[in-house]
Amino acid sequence: MSQKQVLQGIGVGSRAVRAEVFRLTARRALPAPLKSASTPAEEAQTLSQAISSLEATYAEKIASASGNLKEILEAQSALGTDSELFESAVQHCEGGWNASTAIQMAMNEFRELLSGADGEFGERVADLDEIVYRLVQILQGHVEEIDLPTSGQVIVVATDLTPMDTVAFTDVVAGVITEKGGPTSHTAIVCRARDIPALVACADASTLKSGQIVMLDPDNSQAIIDGELSSSSGNWWDNLTPHASSLIPVMANIGSVEDAHKVSSAQGVGLLRTELFFLNRNTAPTLQEQITLYSSILAAGPEGEIIVRTLDAGSDKPIPFLGIAQEENPALGVRGQRVAAVAPDFYRDQLTAIAAAATEVIATGKEITVSVMAPMIATVEEARTFATQARNAGLARVGIMIEIPSIIPVIGQLRGVIDFVSVGTNDLSQYLFAADRVNSGVAHLLNPWEPALLATLEEIARSCKAASIKTGVCGEAASDPLLAVVLAGLGFDSVSASPSSVSNVSAALSYVSMSLATDVARAARSGATAHEAKTAARKTL
Ligand code: PEP
Ligand code: MG
Repeated sequence: MSQKQVLQGIGVGSRAVRAEVFRLTARRALPAPLKSASTPAEEAQTLSQAISSLEATYAEKIASASGNLKEILEAQSALGTDSELFESAVQHCEGGWNASTAIQMAMNEFRELLSGADGEFGERVADLDEIVYRLVQILQGHVEEIDLPTSGQVIVVATDLTPMDTVAFTDVVAGVITEKGGPTSHTAIVCRARDIPALVACADASTLKSGQIVMLDPDNSQAIIDGELSSSSGNWWDNLTPHASSLIPVMANIGSVEDAHKVSSAQGVGLLRTELFFLNRNTAPTLQEQITLYSSILAAGPEGEIIVRTLDAGSDKPIPFLGIAQEENPALGVRGQRVAAVAPDFYRDQLTAIAAAATEVIATGKEITVSVMAPMIATVEEARTFATQARNAGLARVGIMIEIPSIIPVIGQLRGVIDFVSVGTNDLSQYLFAADRVNSGVAHLLNPWEPALLATLEEIARSCKAASIKTGVCGEAASDPLLAVVLAGLGFDSVSASPSSVSNVSAALSYVSMSLATDVARAARSGATAHEAKTAARKTL
């Protein structure tokens, strides 16, 4: 019997599907720089019309989108219609360039500002590319739309997908395979939110041809050409008997009032990303504005513990009012809690506002405990400084994020300094593997099943237990139901998942006992590769 061809990648979701490949055609290359024969004013006018046309297209797509996808499209539309971007392009028109060259040049300047950014911010680099591509298409008069089949089931295969592409997805799309993208790329976020099984960072995706039959098995991070669905292709927990409640609390990661409303079934909030409120602001919010903002989130969110993260920004993140200088290597620069040293007023106000908002909402009878945590802590000294400031502001429960490997060997010295840690596996992977979160060329290193990451997580759980510090994981790793079981088995006290993953992670954790989770974690730790780790974990169930 001939060997079936297996393609490896990073799985998103847990349901296996089998369908025909539908290849999306590769995007056209952007045109080479060209000087214009028209006047700068005419080119600026042409560009302005193209931007209005793009805005109208976004409005139409936004109207038919919901949840994460809608938010992403709204952010892209705002970026595409940004007046600073237009003004910068107009300057290039004045230099004699045509509209499509001018917008590419303006975008390149923006891209440089963002290129070291991480996670959802770093995705803005992909957003910029998407906006340039769409604008150039409009300027050249050939707008391409995805033309999916109208019946049957297909697995869409592409180099990468943009949120705009995914709006066109109907029930015909059974799965997605992309060559690029990583565990935190838009493709992964949107597919997870829409419950579409996917395989991202699949280097061999380019070998797939339309019409081939593929079995996509995200749980095993693979796709098999001509593969068959096994009898256990549903969610792995479907065959187990449920317990009364989740093995460890499942909290939610949120970044907006809308998210807060969506996560009522979560046992608290494990990560409130406060920087998401200030991305486009040129002026710092007043103390009262911050109090009003946090109060509205606390009032809308679930009961239980609400962990508010202080601003996770830096020169790589576009928060203009912080006035931070441009950096050569922003991912390693003044970012996260390091910004507190250069913008002390904002951080002081932020802690005061969080404490005031907590008091205000608790007074309404809502049963919440508001904790605060700092991102990107590298040393015990930084943790001490933050803890002192937070407690002085009246916040009783204080934690730090573990995202930088240097803090791990000194966890023992955090005893009595902080109450909890929350592991940000997105950044921890980036710094552990020296692999940029937003560079799809190194996405395979960011697979959360990588044995070195699992070993590091085990060490964190063990060291924190010994130091009487509570542990949680709020990176994307915790949004994978199987990995959440591993985390429980490694000894973590809670996980915090993205809003769309809370119900699946809670379901999975309701079907396993602590002894089974420990066995699953041990099996995962025995793997020498990410694939072996995940396969071993899966086999234990
Ligand atoms: C992380 O790094 O895992 C994390 C949760 O923080 P963010 O994704 O916001 O950088
Ligand atoms: Mg982070």
